[in-house]
Amino acid sequence: MSRLPWLHPDRVASLEAALAQRILVIDGAMGTMIQRHGLEEADYRGERFAHGYDALFSADGHAHGDGCGCDGHDQRGNNDLLTLTRPDLIRGIHAAYLDAGADLVETNTFNSTSVSLADYRLQHLVHELNREGAALARAACDEAQAADPSRPRFVIGVLGPTSRTASLSPDVNRPGFRATSFDELAVAYREAASGLVEGGADVLMVETIFDTLNAKAALFAIDDVFEAAGGRLPVLISGTITDASGRTLSGQTAEAFWYSLRHARPLAIGLNCALGARDLRVHIDVLSQVADTHVSCHPNAGLPNAFGGYDETPEDMAAVLREFAEAGLLNLVGGCCGTTPAHIAALAAAVEGLPPRRVPRLQEAA
Ligand SMILES: [Zn+2]
Ligand SMILES: [Zn+2]
Repeated sequence: MSRLPWLHPDRVASLEAALAQRILVIDGAMGTMIQRHGLEEADYRGERFAHGYDALFSADGHAHGDGCGCDGHDQRGNNDLLTLTRPDLIRGIHAAYLDAGADLVETNTFNSTSVSLADYRLQHLVHELNREGAALARAACDEAQAADPSRPRFVIGVLGPTSRTASLSPDVNRPGFRATSFDELAVAYREAASGLVEGGADVLMVETIFDTLNAKAALFAIDDVFEAAGGRLPVLISGTITDASGRTLSGQTAEAFWYSLRHARPLAIGLNCALGARDLRVHIDVLSQVADTHVSCHPNAGLPNAFGGYDETPEDMAAVLREFAEAGLLNLVGGCCGTTPAHIAALAAAVEGLPPRRVPRLQEAA
């Protein structure tokens, strides 16, 4: 099978050179930082969405006005919308993570799929949110790299899991029911991925995967987008272990997870979210042994406490992840829910100078 050329061969060469030299640092949580700003409904809406609908768009092309029928939908909590209504704030968060020592920053697009945006009746924004989300992160990375050209910085175009699962029924009384399908997810991911590519992402990451079938739809869609663009970006895949038995929601161990997605030949496979670093150790160890590609890990700042917050300090988290690095398990490391620039700074300091995991060459079946 021949593969498409890289869309940005110089960026890929620079990323691969950096991965060969050191453990690269991914940024921390976007949501945690947004939360600190205590934004209200009006902040989320900005001018364009002041009435709850998009002043620049209506489904049938009508001019909005009193009684036009587009009732104002609440946008508070729609963090991805801030890319359009508070770009200064999102760019500031990217800059804070880059200052803290992140080599790669994740776009503010975790929920920017039609499936997730339907909750806010903003499905028409998918392409724009992904393109602008990538462009904001691109601008922040370019600025940091201009300030220190010896240190390349990379944009991770993020594709989240969506709020639905293709493998499992959300209704215990109807086990055969599915709230979404492979085809519906593939359409949603195609739209999102094309925006990320257009906005200037260096790599794409399918992350927080709790259902492998959702991830397969994302990877299928990504291939279509690359085909249409006439070139590809490196792809990172990161799953989520959701319970103490060490399985994803769709029931796979870390090892099974790798083998079911290996055909996509990702630049990295890893785990993020849900558990704190300590509980991910055994699963990262497994991935490190079986995966003939780079391994990443960006856990939460510990397990959520009774109030839904995260208690692990930057020092705690960095100490645990430093041990992963000393054991030779890591190529990329960062933070998920509850982590802040202070966590990323501690992490960057903790792994500095430690060699990256050596990617094993496994015997190919001919
Ligand atoms: Zn209207
Ligand atoms: Zn998380």
